[in-house]
Amino acid sequence: MTATGNAMNWRAAGACLSADPDLFFPISSSGPAERQIARAKTICAGCRVRRECLEFAITHDQVHGIWGGTTPEDRQRDRRRKRRAAAAAAKRTVAA
Ligand code: SF4
Repeated sequence: MTATGNAMNWRAAGACLSADPDLFFPISSSGPAERQIARAKTICAGCRVRRECLEFAITHDQVHGIWGGTTPEDRQRDRRRKRRAAAAAAKRTVAA
């Protein structure tokens, strides 16, 4: 198996394999889609490869869909928080 294939093995253990794929790719983040998102997040909460899934989404900049129990907005907020923390750390290093 290739390195990429090995890196993707976690997918076969995803709790979402038997779920409706539409739950994980809602067309919006409000209205009826909120119920879809909540159901998807509930499935993710019990998934044993949640960490690998989220890491994949972050590494590959997945801008659509629920991955590792996070929405695109959740991941965007996390990226912004990490960027602010890195900028603050760099500022402290320069000032020291
Ligand atoms: S964390 Fe969620 S989206 Fe990722 S594999 Fe598990 S159930 Fe599927």
